[in-house]
Amino acid sequence: MSKVHNFSAGPCILPNEVFEKSAESILNFNESGLSLIEISHRSADFVAVMEEAIQLVREVLNVPDSYEVLFLQGGASLGFLTAAYNLMGAHKTGGYLVTGAWAKKAAKEASFMGNSITIASSEDKNFNYIPKDYTLKNNIDYFHVTSNNTIFGTQIKNFYTGEIPLACDMSSDIFSRKINIEDFDLIYAGAQKNMGPAGTTLYICKKEILGKSSVPIPTMLDLKTHSDKDSMFNTPPVFPIYASMLNLRWLKKIGGLSYIEEQNEKKSELIYHQIDNSSLFLGTANKEDRSSMNVTFTLTNEALNETFNKMLVEANINGLKGHRSVGGFRASMYNAMPFESVSILVDIMKELENKKG
Ligand SMILES: *Cc1c(COP(=O)(O)O)cnc(C)c1O
Repeated sequence: MSKVHNFSAGPCILPNEVFEKSAESILNFNESGLSLIEISHRSADFVAVMEEAIQLVREVLNVPDSYEVLFLQGGASLGFLTAAYNLMGAHKTGGYLVTGAWAKKAAKEASFMGNSITIASSEDKNFNYIPKDYTLKNNIDYFHVTSNNTIFGTQIKNFYTGEIPLACDMSSDIFSRKINIEDFDLIYAGAQKNMGPAGTTLYICKKEILGKSSVPIPTMLDLKTHSDKDSMFNTPPVFPIYASMLNLRWLKKIGGLSYIEEQNEKKSELIYHQIDNSSLFLGTANKEDRSSMNVTFTLTNEALNETFNKMLVEANINGLKGHRSVGGFRASMYNAMPFESVSILVDIMKELENKKG
């Protein structure tokens, strides 16, 4: 089978060694003669996986001891609600930076047990930028942001560092660049954008927020429930956690966040450079807010869409179709995307330019 260059926005590509080793575990986990998915999650073998996964998150992201790391379920979509429940305080109000469709969905969830205030929104320009001109007042319990807007190709470069607790949906750029964990009170991320297969959701939160909510929380949505039981209150999704652990091992081995951040910059710069130096392509995101994970662009001459799509198919390039709300194209380049694949895509863009530009 010839190699497919998978630029899909999610679920993400993973390193081949992760696919291979996780596939092995389904048939014969750790040479035990048993499958990973048939053993008890409380067996020594799986507890070791959970512990290593948590330890790797701590190491790779440099998570201080004052923070809890949890592997839960429900995706980032349940994270929207979980964040709101756990961070509600005296004002029973969350403030939201509405930078895309996911941010909007997050904001909606706060209204189920409290109030949701839009601090700033970029919806006026179809979310093609990150609003920066806003001030926070003390009428909110927390400020919620989306670090990378997967659909619109924008990314927050500088996070809020004030007094108000900061919550962040980091689904599509966690582990892609260095961050300062101490800027955040709560981070959550669905695994399937840049960490592993769908089915587990990573939570990193300040221990001091646990059990402090001003509203009653259903048991499964209370982060304290899961913290008290080391992510084993109920049966954890063992396979996605195992594959995520393997992926984090890989990330650590290749050089961790400093190395991957540099790689991710190089990959996205290569495409942005092509976009900016071509009359055929137009980037849809505001330059200073451009994402290094999801590059969104359109063709200036829509009549060329078909030709371009045909060239992509011939080059085995997959998953480049833009989200329907933006149109055009989106090249998602999560951690495991090799530089060579990006370079092949850019060659196709150049070829089209030479033909039609
Ligand atoms: C994909 C995505 C989500 C939704 O994630 P699920 O795990 O499918 O619920 C939320 N936020 C962002 C930024 C995403 O990219």
